[in-house]
Amino acid sequence: MLIQLKDNITSDDKNQIIDKIAGLKYKSTEVKTQKGNYLVGIGKKDFDIRDVGHMRGIADIHIVSDDYKLVSRKWKVKPTVIDLGDGVTIEEGGMALMAGPCSIESEEQIEKTIAHLVENNIKIMRGGVYKPRSSPYSFRGLGIDGLKMWYNATRAAGIKIITEVMQVSQIEEMYDYVDVYQVGARNTQNFNLLDELGKVDKPVLIKRGISGTIEELLSSAEYVFSAGNENLMLCERGIRTYERASRNTMDINAIAILKEKSHLPVIADPSHGIGIRDFVEPVALACIMAGSDGVIYETHEKPEEAYSDGQQTLNFDESAKLISKMRKVFELREEM
Ligand code: PEP
Ligand code: MN
Repeated sequence: MLIQLKDNITSDDKNQIIDKIAGLKYKSTEVKTQKGNYLVGIGKKDFDIRDVGHMRGIADIHIVSDDYKLVSRKWKVKPTVIDLGDGVTIEEGGMALMAGPCSIESEEQIEKTIAHLVENNIKIMRGGVYKPRSSPYSFRGLGIDGLKMWYNATRAAGIKIITEVMQVSQIEEMYDYVDVYQVGARNTQNFNLLDELGKVDKPVLIKRGISGTIEELLSSAEYVFSAGNENLMLCERGIRTYERASRNTMDINAIAILKEKSHLPVIADPSHGIGIRDFVEPVALACIMAGSDGVIYETHEKPEEAYSDGQQTLNFDESAKLISKMRKVFELREEM
């Protein structure tokens, strides 16, 4: 059960509701987000809405049978819209494009990438300054100084930044320089990190865990929402299967399923999804047809020289071709 409380509810009225639903064998948790005030009731899957719905202080009440509640589509009429300012939004039925290198490497690389994005009318730049690497000897990112340099370069160009936050202590130092915090696949179930991102008033993109289920991804998003932040989006980036011909197996099914299960925007990451430069394009196009609300992918002036993930990174020519094809496929989807 999910109850939307009125903003001006009195504590007496709230306690009466909590007692009432406890009597119906629901354990309730109060959730206060930056946008609303909710009671999440966990208990039997069904109840008679008339038993509770009339009580004072209730704005709306919903039966949500999913284990995750707040991120479920079952109660929210209007899908979540993420507004990054300056007319840049990420939302259902849109096609938010986010492109950039795997890692931020240098001022020159930043400038060249921005020029490429501006030329192709891309408003959101991706890149890592804190890199989760399988080997401790690989490049691990330029850190906060790299982020500040990157931030200064993007503002003049009107480009927004999405970048990965790896641990709780980084949230605050990054705050002034990011537009979207990215939670990487290796951190999807870092529940402390998710809790803390719930307290931040900036959007969060949560990637699917390396061997995470769709349900687990939704539960991770539920952590952030229930800790206070509704500005969320989900990202399918491929999962580890028995298949070794590709880096990961891009689960295009998940895009359609997530769209059906949740009101949050769903973004596809074909670069990590397949991990092979030549096949990023067809997978990206397929994800758009499957209903994704955006695509995030890796591009670099010279992928052969990239500090990380060069094997799955498009050069700027390939990237420009992909952008134009994605726009065509998106138009086709809209016509259908
Ligand atoms: C990345 O975006 O560069 C990255 C490390 O992604 P993931 O967490 O999906 O592996
Ligand atoms: Mn990468």
